[in-house]
Amino acid sequence: MMRYDLHCHSTRSDGLLCPADVVRRAAGRGVDVLALTDHDEVAGLDEARDAARDAGITFIPGSELSVTWRDTTVHVVALGIDSASPELAQGLERVRKGRDARARRIGESLAQAGIPDAFEGALAYVTSERLISRTHFARHLIDAGHARDMKDAFRRYLTSGKPGYVAHAWATLSDALSWIHSAGGTAVIAHPGRYKLTSTELRELIGDFRNLGGEAIEVVSPSHTSAQYTEFATLARTFGLQASCGTDFHGPGESRFDFGDLPSLPAGVNPVWSGW
Ligand code: AMP
Ligand code: MN
Ligand code: MN
Ligand code: MN
Repeated sequence: MMRYDLHCHSTRSDGLLCPADVVRRAAGRGVDVLALTDHDEVAGLDEARDAARDAGITFIPGSELSVTWRDTTVHVVALGIDSASPELAQGLERVRKGRDARARRIGESLAQAGIPDAFEGALAYVTSERLISRTHFARHLIDAGHARDMKDAFRRYLTSGKPGYVAHAWATLSDALSWIHSAGGTAVIAHPGRYKLTSTELRELIGDFRNLGGEAIEVVSPSHTSAQYTEFATLARTFGLQASCGTDFHGPGESRFDFGDLPSLPAGVNPVWSGW
Protein backbone atom coordinates (compact mmCIF):
# COMPACT_ATOMS: atom_id res chain seq x y z
CA MET A 1 0.00 0.00 0.00
CA MET A 2 1.26 3.48 -0.90
CA ARG A 3 1.87 5.87 1.96
CA TYR A 4 0.56 9.39 1.38
CA ASP A 5 1.51 12.44 3.43
CA LEU A 6 -0.19 15.52 2.07
CA HIS A 7 0.55 18.23 4.66
CA CYS A 8 3.93 19.42 6.02
CA HIS A 9 6.13 22.48 6.42
CA SER A 10 9.68 23.60 5.68
CA THR A 11 11.88 26.61 6.51
CA ARG A 12 10.02 28.46 3.74
CA SER A 13 7.29 28.97 6.36
CA ASP A 14 7.44 27.77 9.98
CA GLY A 15 9.12 24.36 9.64
CA LEU A 16 12.61 23.55 10.93
CA LEU A 17 14.03 21.67 7.91
CA CYS A 18 14.76 23.03 4.45
CA PRO A 19 12.52 21.67 1.66
CA ALA A 20 15.12 19.13 0.46
CA ASP A 21 15.64 17.80 4.01
CA VAL A 22 11.87 17.53 4.51
CA VAL A 23 11.65 15.38 1.38
CA ARG A 24 14.66 13.23 2.33
CA ARG A 25 13.29 12.63 5.82
CA ALA A 26 9.87 11.66 4.44
CA ALA A 27 11.40 9.32 1.85
CA GLY A 28 13.68 7.76 4.47
CA ARG A 29 10.69 7.05 6.69
CA GLY A 30 8.67 5.30 3.99
CA VAL A 31 6.47 8.03 2.49
CA ASP A 32 5.74 7.29 -1.19
CA VAL A 33 3.77 10.43 -2.07
CA LEU A 34 4.54 13.73 -0.34
CA ALA A 35 3.02 17.21 -0.58
CA LEU A 36 4.95 20.17 0.82
CA THR A 37 2.36 22.71 2.04
CA ASP A 38 4.08 25.77 3.48
CA HIS A 39 1.82 28.46 4.92
CA ASP A 40 0.79 31.00 2.25
CA GLU A 41 3.89 30.16 0.24
CA VAL A 42 5.08 28.16 -2.79
CA ALA A 43 8.76 29.18 -2.77
CA GLY A 44 10.03 25.81 -1.51
CA LEU A 45 8.36 23.68 -4.16
CA ASP A 46 11.13 23.64 -6.79
CA GLU A 47 13.76 22.54 -4.27
CA ALA A 48 11.40 19.88 -2.90
CA ARG A 49 10.52 18.57 -6.37
CA ASP A 50 14.20 18.12 -7.25
CA ALA A 51 14.87 16.33 -3.95
CA ALA A 52 11.86 14.06 -4.49
CA ARG A 53 13.14 13.08 -7.93
CA ASP A 54 16.53 12.21 -6.43
CA ALA A 55 14.90 10.25 -3.59
CA GLY A 56 12.56 8.39 -5.97
CA ILE A 57 9.26 9.47 -4.39
CA THR A 58 6.25 11.23 -5.92
CA PHE A 59 5.97 14.93 -5.17
CA ILE A 60 2.74 16.92 -5.02
CA PRO A 61 3.21 20.71 -5.03
CA GLY A 62 1.05 22.30 -2.33
CA SER A 63 0.44 25.17 0.07
CA GLU A 64 -1.62 25.83 3.20
CA LEU A 65 -3.69 28.98 2.84
CA SER A 66 -4.75 31.12 5.81
CA VAL A 67 -8.44 32.03 5.55
CA THR A 68 -10.91 33.98 7.64
CA TRP A 69 -14.38 32.41 7.60
CA ARG A 70 -16.86 34.51 9.60
CA ASP A 71 -14.61 35.40 12.58
CA THR A 72 -12.63 32.17 12.58
CA THR A 73 -9.23 31.45 11.07
CA VAL A 74 -9.34 28.25 9.05
CA HIS A 75 -6.65 26.66 6.91
CA VAL A 76 -7.15 25.32 3.40
CA VAL A 77 -4.54 22.96 1.97
CA ALA A 78 -4.02 23.26 -1.78
CA LEU A 79 -2.73 20.16 -3.60
CA GLY A 80 -1.43 19.78 -7.13
CA ILE A 81 -1.05 23.50 -7.77
CA ASP A 82 0.88 25.13 -10.58
CA SER A 83 3.19 27.33 -8.50
CA ALA A 84 3.66 29.67 -11.46
CA SER A 85 -0.02 30.65 -11.48
CA PRO A 86 -0.14 34.47 -11.24
CA GLU A 87 -3.54 34.52 -9.48
CA LEU A 88 -2.25 32.22 -6.76
CA ALA A 89 1.14 33.96 -6.48
CA GLN A 90 -0.47 37.41 -6.16
CA GLY A 91 -3.03 36.19 -3.65
CA LEU A 92 -0.41 34.52 -1.48
CA GLU A 93 1.83 37.56 -1.62
CA ARG A 94 -0.99 39.72 -0.31
CA VAL A 95 -1.65 37.29 2.54
CA ARG A 96 2.05 37.11 3.46
CA LYS A 97 2.35 40.91 3.48
CA GLY A 98 -0.40 41.15 6.10
CA ARG A 99 1.72 39.01 8.42
CA ASP A 100 4.34 41.73 8.97
CA ALA A 101 2.00 44.30 10.53
CA ARG A 102 0.29 41.56 12.51
CA ALA A 103 3.62 40.38 13.92
CA ARG A 104 4.48 43.93 15.05
CA ARG A 105 1.12 44.12 16.80
CA ILE A 106 1.76 40.75 18.46
CA GLY A 107 5.07 42.18 19.69
CA GLU A 108 3.37 45.33 21.07
CA SER A 109 0.70 43.28 22.72
CA LEU A 110 3.26 41.01 24.41
CA ALA A 111 5.22 44.11 25.52
CA GLN A 112 2.11 45.41 27.29
CA ALA A 113 1.91 42.06 29.06
CA GLY A 114 5.48 42.49 30.32
CA ILE A 115 7.43 40.65 27.61
CA PRO A 116 9.51 43.26 25.77
CA ASP A 117 11.16 42.87 22.36
CA ALA A 118 9.28 39.73 21.35
CA PHE A 119 9.01 40.90 17.74
CA GLU A 120 12.80 41.23 17.50
CA GLY A 121 13.11 37.94 19.37
CA ALA A 122 10.78 36.16 16.94
CA LEU A 123 12.65 37.60 13.96
CA ALA A 124 15.74 35.68 15.08
CA TYR A 125 13.81 32.45 14.45
CA VAL A 126 12.43 33.45 11.06
CA THR A 127 13.91 31.35 8.26
CA SER A 128 12.32 33.05 5.25
CA GLU A 129 12.31 36.83 4.96
CA ARG A 130 8.96 36.43 3.21
CA LEU A 131 7.05 35.09 6.19
CA ILE A 132 6.73 35.41 9.97
CA SER A 133 4.27 33.31 11.98
CA ARG A 134 3.15 32.73 15.55
CA THR A 135 5.39 29.65 15.55
CA HIS A 136 8.43 31.95 15.42
CA PHE A 137 7.09 33.85 18.44
CA ALA A 138 6.51 30.54 20.21
CA ARG A 139 10.10 29.38 19.62
CA HIS A 140 11.39 32.68 20.98
CA LEU A 141 9.09 32.55 24.05
CA ILE A 142 10.29 29.02 24.83
CA ASP A 143 13.99 29.80 24.46
CA ALA A 144 13.57 33.01 26.50
CA GLY A 145 12.06 30.94 29.32
CA HIS A 146 8.47 32.20 29.09
CA ALA A 147 7.02 28.81 28.10
CA ARG A 148 7.94 25.14 28.46
CA ASP A 149 7.17 23.97 24.96
CA MET A 150 5.12 24.84 21.85
CA LYS A 151 1.83 23.81 23.34
CA ASP A 152 2.50 25.84 26.47
CA ALA A 153 3.59 28.91 24.45
CA PHE A 154 0.37 28.86 22.43
CA ARG A 155 -1.82 28.14 25.43
CA ARG A 156 -0.31 30.94 27.54
CA TYR A 157 0.37 33.64 24.97
CA LEU A 158 -0.65 33.09 21.38
CA THR A 159 -4.26 31.90 21.22
CA SER A 160 -7.49 33.89 21.28
CA GLY A 161 -7.90 35.88 24.50
CA LYS A 162 -4.21 35.63 25.43
CA PRO A 163 -1.77 38.60 25.54
CA GLY A 164 0.05 37.81 22.29
CA TYR A 165 -3.04 37.15 20.20
CA VAL A 166 -4.24 39.75 17.74
CA ALA A 167 -7.23 39.31 15.46
CA HIS A 168 -6.34 39.26 11.79
CA ALA A 169 -8.24 39.20 8.49
CA TRP A 170 -6.75 36.55 6.20
CA ALA A 171 -8.01 35.66 2.70
CA THR A 172 -11.73 35.06 2.22
CA LEU A 173 -12.74 31.44 1.63
CA SER A 174 -14.03 32.42 -1.78
CA ASP A 175 -10.74 34.10 -2.82
CA ALA A 176 -8.64 31.22 -1.50
CA LEU A 177 -10.63 28.62 -3.45
CA SER A 178 -10.57 30.74 -6.56
CA TRP A 179 -6.74 31.12 -6.40
CA ILE A 180 -6.32 27.37 -5.80
CA HIS A 181 -8.59 26.47 -8.69
CA SER A 182 -6.97 28.96 -11.07
CA ALA A 183 -3.70 27.20 -10.26
CA GLY A 184 -5.29 23.86 -11.22
CA GLY A 185 -5.23 22.63 -7.61
CA THR A 186 -7.51 20.70 -5.30
CA ALA A 187 -8.75 22.36 -2.07
CA VAL A 188 -8.78 20.51 1.26
CA ILE A 189 -10.16 21.84 4.58
CA ALA A 190 -7.16 21.35 6.91
CA HIS A 191 -7.55 19.80 10.39
CA PRO A 192 -11.27 20.63 10.86
CA GLY A 193 -11.09 19.36 14.45
CA ARG A 194 -8.90 22.30 15.45
CA TYR A 195 -11.47 25.04 14.92
CA LYS A 196 -13.49 26.40 17.80
CA LEU A 197 -16.79 25.90 15.99
CA THR A 198 -20.05 24.27 17.07
CA SER A 199 -21.04 21.21 15.07
CA THR A 200 -23.66 23.34 13.28
CA GLU A 201 -21.04 25.97 12.37
CA LEU A 202 -18.63 23.27 11.21
CA ARG A 203 -21.29 21.91 8.89
CA GLU A 204 -21.95 25.43 7.61
CA LEU A 205 -18.21 25.87 6.94
CA ILE A 206 -18.05 22.57 5.08
CA GLY A 207 -21.22 23.48 3.17
CA ASP A 208 -19.82 26.89 2.14
CA PHE A 209 -16.53 25.21 1.17
CA ARG A 210 -18.28 22.63 -0.98
CA ASN A 211 -20.56 25.22 -2.59
CA LEU A 212 -17.45 27.20 -3.60
CA GLY A 213 -16.07 24.08 -5.30
CA GLY A 214 -13.87 22.72 -2.47
CA GLU A 215 -12.98 19.07 -2.96
CA ALA A 216 -11.78 17.40 0.24
CA ILE A 217 -11.52 17.29 4.05
CA GLU A 218 -8.38 16.38 5.97
CA VAL A 219 -9.59 13.39 7.95
CA VAL A 220 -6.39 11.96 9.45
CA SER A 221 -4.23 14.59 11.16
CA PRO A 222 -2.29 14.78 14.45
CA SER A 223 -4.81 17.45 15.48
CA HIS A 224 -7.53 14.74 15.57
CA THR A 225 -8.39 11.90 17.93
CA SER A 226 -9.20 8.55 16.37
CA ALA A 227 -12.88 9.20 17.16
CA GLN A 228 -12.53 12.33 15.03
CA TYR A 229 -11.09 10.29 12.13
CA THR A 230 -14.44 8.49 12.08
CA GLU A 231 -16.42 11.70 12.57
CA PHE A 232 -14.70 13.55 9.71
CA ALA A 233 -14.80 10.48 7.44
CA THR A 234 -18.58 10.47 7.93
CA LEU A 235 -18.80 14.21 7.26
CA ALA A 236 -16.74 13.80 4.09
CA ARG A 237 -19.10 11.09 2.85
CA THR A 238 -22.20 13.08 3.83
CA PHE A 239 -21.02 16.15 1.94
CA GLY A 240 -19.71 14.20 -1.05
CA LEU A 241 -16.14 15.35 -0.38
CA GLN A 242 -12.91 13.40 -0.71
CA ALA A 243 -10.65 12.58 2.24
CA SER A 244 -7.02 13.58 2.82
CA CYS A 245 -4.32 12.91 5.40
CA GLY A 246 -1.09 14.53 6.54
CA THR A 247 1.31 14.73 9.47
CA ASP A 248 1.46 18.57 9.49
CA PHE A 249 5.13 17.92 10.25
CA HIS A 250 7.08 21.04 11.31
CA GLY A 251 10.30 19.48 12.59
CA PRO A 252 11.86 16.75 14.71
CA GLY A 253 10.52 16.95 18.24
CA GLU A 254 7.80 19.46 17.39
CA SER A 255 5.15 17.23 15.90
CA ARG A 256 3.00 14.44 17.27
CA PHE A 257 3.44 12.38 14.10
CA ASP A 258 6.71 12.08 12.26
CA PHE A 259 6.74 11.04 8.58
CA GLY A 260 5.62 7.46 8.20
CA ASP A 261 3.64 7.45 11.48
CA LEU A 262 0.30 8.37 9.92
CA PRO A 263 -2.59 5.89 10.36
CA SER A 264 -4.48 4.98 7.15
CA LEU A 265 -7.73 6.66 6.17
CA PRO A 266 -10.87 5.03 7.57
CA ALA A 267 -12.57 2.58 5.19
CA GLY A 268 -15.38 3.88 3.01
CA VAL A 269 -14.00 7.31 2.14
CA ASN A 270 -12.94 8.45 -1.29
CA PRO A 271 -9.24 9.40 -1.01
CA VAL A 272 -8.25 12.74 -2.50
CA TRP A 273 -5.67 10.85 -4.59
CA SER A 274 -8.25 8.52 -6.17
CA GLY A 275 -8.11 10.46 -9.44
CA TRP A 276 -4.32 10.92 -9.54
P1 AMP B 1 -0.02 31.68 12.14
O1 AMP B 1 -0.28 31.22 10.74
O2 AMP B 1 1.04 32.72 12.22
O3 AMP B 1 -1.28 32.07 12.87
O4 AMP B 1 0.60 30.44 12.91
C1 AMP B 1 -0.10 29.23 12.90
C2 AMP B 1 0.85 28.11 13.22
O5 AMP B 1 1.07 28.04 14.60
C3 AMP B 1 0.26 26.75 12.90
O6 AMP B 1 0.50 26.42 11.58
C4 AMP B 1 1.02 25.84 13.80
O7 AMP B 1 2.28 25.56 13.24
C5 AMP B 1 1.23 26.70 15.00
N1 AMP B 1 0.22 26.44 16.05
C6 AMP B 1 -1.00 26.96 16.18
N2 AMP B 1 -1.60 26.54 17.31
C7 AMP B 1 -0.72 25.73 17.92
C8 AMP B 1 -0.72 24.98 19.12
N3 AMP B 1 -1.77 25.01 19.96
N4 AMP B 1 0.38 24.25 19.42
C9 AMP B 1 1.45 24.24 18.60
N5 AMP B 1 1.50 24.93 17.44
C10 AMP B 1 0.45 25.66 17.11
MN1 MN C 1 2.60 25.91 11.03
MN1 MN D 1 -2.81 24.54 9.84
MN1 MN E 1 0.07 22.97 8.63
